[in-house]
Amino acid sequence: MADGRITVLVENTAGGRGLLGEHGLSFWIELNGKRFLFDTGQGHVLLNNARRLGIGLDHIDAIALSHGHYDHTGGLGEVLRSSRATTVYAHPAAFEAKYARNPDGSARDVGMPGLDEEMIRDMAELVLVEEPVKLCRGLHLTGPVPRTTDFEDTGGAFFKDRACVEPDPLVDDQAAFIETQASTVVILGCAHAGVINTLRHVQSLTGNRPVHTVIGGMHLLHASPERMDKTVDELRRLDVQRLLPCHCTGMAAVARLWQEFPGRCAACPVGTILEVPA
Ligand SMILES: [Zn+2]
Ligand SMILES: [Zn+2]
Repeated sequence: MADGRITVLVENTAGGRGLLGEHGLSFWIELNGKRFLFDTGQGHVLLNNARRLGIGLDHIDAIALSHGHYDHTGGLGEVLRSSRATTVYAHPAAFEAKYARNPDGSARDVGMPGLDEEMIRDMAELVLVEEPVKLCRGLHLTGPVPRTTDFEDTGGAFFKDRACVEPDPLVDDQAAFIETQASTVVILGCAHAGVINTLRHVQSLTGNRPVHTVIGGMHLLHASPERMDKTVDELRRLDVQRLLPCHCTGMAAVARLWQEFPGRCAACPVGTILEVPA
């Protein structure tokens, strides 16, 4: 019996009776007797999917947000209202205004909907994450990810203002990781810091343990051929055993990864359960 498991609660696709997909991401992480929510999706399907999967959200040890975009934070209010007092972990920049520029030059609001820092503090204990933090034995948040590669960027036209003048570097972007006996399982939100930057950072935090599994959004949907090539090269060098690219990874990038890493890739629709051996 594994000591941990990750259940996909929200993803763009769904794989079971009564389960619903939406553009968003949320993982339910059970580890060493504790229960965590990593991201909350947009909020349209989270409670339905949790109920259908038999996951009681009334008791959550902590909720961690990968970054402030609406497709990861939109369900937070509803979860906090339906659960007992809990702790929320997020980088301070997750609460700032966030916009994305449309192809026609207009902007759309992609920030956290309906909640601000003060409202969260009324419902939960809020821990601002500006460096790596341990959530429980074996489970950590990376905190801000150093941008060390020369081929990765945030993956889109993201800005701090509606006029789209000041670029948003998404310093709030972080991943979660589980340390198993000999390796690491990395859980990505959108990887706006870059998937390779994120994996390098996790390795630096874990004494260069091998990365066994990577699950989550890799935000490669606008990746240049050069970025895709280098990402594949680095994933091969890291010898990642199991890849579950989803959400914002992009169809072409997912297809490429499946082709480059035969037998190592899997889909991860809502309802997917990943056992994590301790
Ligand atoms: Zn995002
Ligand atoms: Zn996203």
